[in-house]
Amino acid sequence: MMKPAYVRVIIDRAIQRELDYSVPETLADKIYVGSRVRVPFREKSALATVLATLEQTDAKGIRPIEALVGEGPVVSERLLELAKWMSAYYCCPLETVMRSLLPQVIRRAEIGWKKQLVVHPSNIASGDIDKLRRRAPRQAELLEAIAKLEKPIPAAMLLRNTSLDNQALRALARRNLIDLREESVARDPHADEQFVASGYLELNAEQTVALKKISEALAAPESAKPILLHGVTGSGKTEVYLQAIRFALEHGRNAIVLVPEISLTPQTVERFKSRFAEIHDAVAVLHSHLSHGERHDEWHKIHAGRARIVIGARSAVFAPLKDLGLIIVDEEHETTYKQEEAPRYHARDVAVVRAKIEKCAIVLGSATPSLESYHNATSPTRTGPKYELVTLAQRVDQQQMPLMRIVDLRQERRKEKIVPILSEKLSQAIASRLEKREQTILFLNRRGFSTSLLCSSCGEARQCPNCSVALTFHRHMARLSCHLCGHTATVPKKCPACGKDALIYAGFGTEKVESTVSNLFPKANVRRMDADSMTRKEAYRETLRNFRSGKIDILVGTQMIAKGLHFPNVTLVGIINADLALHLPDFRAGERTFQLLTQVAGRAGRGETPGEVFVQTYTPFSPSIQFARHHDFTGYFEQELEFRERCDFPPFKHAVLITVRSEHEGRAKLSAETLVRRLRESLPSEFALSDAAPAPLEKLQGQFRFHILIRGEAIMRLSRLIRETIDKLPLPEDVIATVDVDPYQLL
Ligand code: ADP
Ligand code: ZN
Repeated sequence: MMKPAYVRVIIDRAIQRELDYSVPETLADKIYVGSRVRVPFREKSALATVLATLEQTDAKGIRPIEALVGEGPVVSERLLELAKWMSAYYCCPLETVMRSLLPQVIRRAEIGWKKQLVVHPSNIASGDIDKLRRRAPRQAELLEAIAKLEKPIPAAMLLRNTSLDNQALRALARRNLIDLREESVARDPHADEQFVASGYLELNAEQTVALKKISEALAAPESAKPILLHGVTGSGKTEVYLQAIRFALEHGRNAIVLVPEISLTPQTVERFKSRFAEIHDAVAVLHSHLSHGERHDEWHKIHAGRARIVIGARSAVFAPLKDLGLIIVDEEHETTYKQEEAPRYHARDVAVVRAKIEKCAIVLGSATPSLESYHNATSPTRTGPKYELVTLAQRVDQQQMPLMRIVDLRQERRKEKIVPILSEKLSQAIASRLEKREQTILFLNRRGFSTSLLCSSCGEARQCPNCSVALTFHRHMARLSCHLCGHTATVPKKCPACGKDALIYAGFGTEKVESTVSNLFPKANVRRMDADSMTRKEAYRETLRNFRSGKIDILVGTQMIAKGLHFPNVTLVGIINADLALHLPDFRAGERTFQLLTQVAGRAGRGETPGEVFVQTYTPFSPSIQFARHHDFTGYFEQELEFRERCDFPPFKHAVLITVRSEHEGRAKLSAETLVRRLRESLPSEFALSDAAPAPLEKLQGQFRFHILIRGEAIMRLSRLIRETIDKLPLPEDVIATVDVDPYQLL
């Protein structure tokens, strides 16, 4: 291969331009596409990624690369291709994409491996030990222990075992009697856990078909379509994933498993680690709670090819695995796959594109597939549907789907004047579970004690000064807090607006449910699980452990408990208020409610005893509630698709949401209106453009926000036109315009 004379790079800063540099002789055989380099930029230097090697360039004032960062190519050519696709699709500069694609600790290459002293076994003459015994008895004792070693041992551990100190060890090393080396070790967050290899289960008929389809896709990825695995809760999807991964490994291919951050529980990790326990270091785990050091180690373990399975949240879709054979996206409908800051990508969709580039199989799994994926798997195109649909309709062992009972809160209100948090029926059901020593989960998608502090005289609610929402009262910290920006405030004694002593707490959150249930059932052990009560990582594991072992009778929580957990003794699930999501100004509100009800309900009756679910609601006849009640996914899907088609919403048209924001309301509004005018000129009529309108959440973190919604089919073209229009627009300095392609957050 010719040594490159020049390279074209993209630097880590947002300058929206590629730059050329010359390659010094000393680096010529070490530079590849995907290498990381340090280059001079303006008066300073910058880190950059090599996009291409060149024999010549027309650029003026070429300067040489300063240094190579890390060894070999850090980003594969295929991942670079993926990054370029993301940049074009998500209307986002390539350098911003690179920031998500490479973890900061790898980009900056400031952290290395942790070093540790290791004692290796060596031939030790018994004469040497005897000689030492009189003069230096402690050294002799240590040497004796080392003479018995069969394999290398970290020095710290040896010293701990023998209760001896560093001095003796150093002295032995100085005498050249032992083999002491400094070695790199991995900071393994799971090092203290034992994983026992677990066996494979015999698949039932539906699972067997699913595995066969995936194996076929693995064997012939060029002609295979992405597989949508629609399996009801408890149908054994995970077992199918595990066996599909084994198939990939046996064929020398590696696998990525994406799970939503909230389902990346110890339980999930353990299931994968223990299944592949016989392959040392086979499973790498990537999630947002890793320290920089741990992330460095896991990333290099993957990059060096030691890890063969990567399990992780959203950004694990960029894991630098080679010989990729299979990507699994579990709970593919989850909105946490969407990144809400630039690059605003959806990991499921990026995974589908990566699979195409890497020529590997991809499986999207869910009990409640997104409308987008289900549409892709069912609506015909010239070559049939885009995805292949595989269904697991039965729970493993033919368990019944839980019985769903709807509690009409309107009738409860007529009976009681004020609506209790727990209806009569639900509290009776809890009581009977307590008697039978079975467990209950109560679900409410709202944290805190009271959702607002109202003045009963003047009607004012305490508002967040930075956002257009009411502050929530949290009893455990005795403060008001904003769930959007984190602002907190003291609880006033009198209404600050009218001065009257007439403040009342209105609405309720998980904290109040917990206290109400505790009061109602004083003998029961009640625990709450939400972002407030689970600030420590350990608290989460501990609560799950105690729930599993039966120490907790009733678990109250937010969506944290809705996903993936498997507790055989839970026979009752209560949904305290099913309407919370339904009334948001968001075209996916109905879909989310349907998914949430189905998922939460799936936590009930996973053991021998059938489960029962109580859904408390003011809108008992809304389609999302009725279809969820009958476990009728297809029915729900068909009527919801009809609505989406009528309104030109996804999956029929792509949507792009532009948000224009500023601390200055007038400037935000004016800029948004100007942008709409420019877009009208530059967009062809096939794209439907809205006016600039105040966002439903008008003010967030001190900034006023305006929305522009565009819908159309040719998304790449639309992205390019939007980018060009915004780049030409002279926005005032304190106004920011962000572009969200396929948006999920419409508030
Ligand atoms: P899902 O991921 O679809 O919710 P899981 O894979 O978690 O379902 O399976 C639910 C339970 O059934 C698990 O405890 C799992 O070990 C068990 N299971 C799965 N497949 C089988 C099988 N073929 N035979 C027996 N038990 C199974
Ligand atoms: Zn706020």
